[in-house]
Amino acid sequence: MTPPSNRVPKYCRFCGALLVVTPQDDGRRVAQCATVGCVGAAAGAPGGPELLVLAFIFAENHMLLLKRGIPPYAGRWAPPGGFVEPYETTEAAAIRETAEEVGIRLELERLIPFAISSLSLINQVYVTYLIKLDRMVEPQPCAPEALDARWFPERAFPMNDIWEPSYQFDMNAVFERLRTGRFEFYQRTDRFLRVISDGEQVRYLEQRDTKPRGNID
Ligand SMILES: [Zn+2]
Repeated sequence: MTPPSNRVPKYCRFCGALLVVTPQDDGRRVAQCATVGCVGAAAGAPGGPELLVLAFIFAENHMLLLKRGIPPYAGRWAPPGGFVEPYETTEAAAIRETAEEVGIRLELERLIPFAISSLSLINQVYVTYLIKLDRMVEPQPCAPEALDARWFPERAFPMNDIWEPSYQFDMNAVFERLRTGRFEFYQRTDRFLRVISDGEQVRYLEQRDTKPRGNID
């Protein structure tokens, strides 16, 4: 598996086209779609960040991934997840998306907060949950969102064929956490990606040298 890098999401979530990155006067960067006719391009000036959830589901030292059927990252393996709907909790969104995409019903109590990732460049915030099941339940992939769904062990994890936002995590460390039961929490800001573990130990996976002006994190 490759270590996390400083890559940022590059593709429009509506049409899959390359995003155009524009520096702002205050030093921030903004990535927007420039495809004529795309919802992402027509959206105009965005409001606050969009809220998304991811469900990292594990059982018997395997992780559940689905093969995405729609852009962005169509054809790549990714965990269940998606946009939080109005008046929905993040937990309910993770449970709903998992049911819709792979036909597995998660119990609320099993959702353990695992990461908050603020991706200011694309105006999105991801909340990730870790879910441990007792056994590998047979997934029922639901097209068009999911073309396939499988349980992957660490040694056969499809790192070369995985959805790009996986850069937010150190997947080897995620599997290691599952084995040891050690508590870990990921935090991504504009300036760093770090893992906080038991006893407030902090490990930095990425750091940026220059702090964007106008951004507080
Ligand atoms: Zn687009």
